[in-house]
Amino acid sequence: MKQLIMIKYGELTTKKANRNVFVNLLTKNIKYMLRNFEVRIHKDRVRMYIEVLDGKFDEVVEELKKVFGLHGIVIVNQVQTNNDSIKEVVLKLVNESNYHTFKIETKRADKTFPIPSMEFNRLIGGHVLKNTNLKVDVHDPDVMIHIEIRQEGTFVYTSEIRGAGGYPVGIQGKGLLMLSGGIDSPVAGYLALKRGVDLECLYFESLPHTSIEARNKVIELAKIINRYSGNIKVHVASFTKIQEAIYKTADDTYIITIMRRMMYRIAEKLAKKRNCKIIINGESIGQVASQTLDSMAVINQVTNMPVIRPVACMDKLEIIDLSKKIDAYETSILPFEDCCTIFLPKHPVIHPTLDKCIEMESRFDYEPLIEECVDTILTISNFEEQKEYLDLL
Ligand code: ATP
Ligand code: MG
Repeated sequence: MKQLIMIKYGELTTKKANRNVFVNLLTKNIKYMLRNFEVRIHKDRVRMYIEVLDGKFDEVVEELKKVFGLHGIVIVNQVQTNNDSIKEVVLKLVNESNYHTFKIETKRADKTFPIPSMEFNRLIGGHVLKNTNLKVDVHDPDVMIHIEIRQEGTFVYTSEIRGAGGYPVGIQGKGLLMLSGGIDSPVAGYLALKRGVDLECLYFESLPHTSIEARNKVIELAKIINRYSGNIKVHVASFTKIQEAIYKTADDTYIITIMRRMMYRIAEKLAKKRNCKIIINGESIGQVASQTLDSMAVINQVTNMPVIRPVACMDKLEIIDLSKKIDAYETSILPFEDCCTIFLPKHPVIHPTLDKCIEMESRFDYEPLIEECVDTILTISNFEEQKEYLDLL
């Protein structure tokens, strides 16, 4: 008997035309995720099988749970197609836990096997009844035994472990994540990755007002979400000159609004340069003054690029739960100042108007500063083993 991991693609199977692209990308992502294990991957049109050669079965399953686009993980027992081997493994499985009822479901993909499925259910079921105290329950069994008879052998398995769902990372191309050191933006990045959007990150810093520790914290957060990608880069933009100019010229209450309009302008330029189709950020409706609907509207006005806010409709506690789940929380709450929190005005405007923004922005020549900011961006790409450097396929 040999144990294998069977992967079910789930949602992908509905996308017939793109099937090969999906499956190939998923395979590449799985290979990346399992790069530290010795595995062999076999795939066909509907399934993928992973053979674990180094015995680290449980660890491999844990890694697979992080792969987006993968809907079910099933531990299957492959045996030779003969009644005795099948009976033996079925008995082992029904005895694995304290089950009271069972059901056998046979699928005879190999029609050269002489016993029809229904009859085989009864044959194997009879063997279980004879050798255990379990009873049959066809409607709601404690354990369901699946027997798939195929040309390459018979696959016997019980339950399915739920995969991470979503789509393979990268299937939608790339988005630019505005990544700060807070709780919300890493979660926003994680959710975008889950829908198949690969990421590049943009971090604004204001040295010397913000520290190198703050930058390192953002890189740490990028590494955490990179566990789901392998491609992530961090672009560090120096925001000092723009921020100082805003402080000098804008009304106190509008400082954050104008700052965020500048950030969006820079993000759009970088996104276009880096072939990112959307901007993603961690804004959540009503969380702070700059995230009221009025604020979002005047801030968003500077760009035509779609801005996706995956956590927009989540409560802070829900975002925190997800942040903990992806192991980002402890890093996010480290106490380093962000450029949005230094010199925070006492009463930021809650209902800003576009006219006022435009008037205040006309008080300084921001275009050259934006150009300079984009041109001097520092890109950190090899902060971790990167997928593109591996020979994957
Ligand atoms: P977070 O917890 O992600 O820091 P927040 O609740 O503190 O978010 P803001 O500071 O208003 O909210 O920022 C809203 C979003 O704008 C952030 O989630 C992030 O996407 C982006 N952002 C804020 N500051 C920066 C920064 N210094 N660099 C890059 N993006 C930023
Ligand atoms: Mg923040």
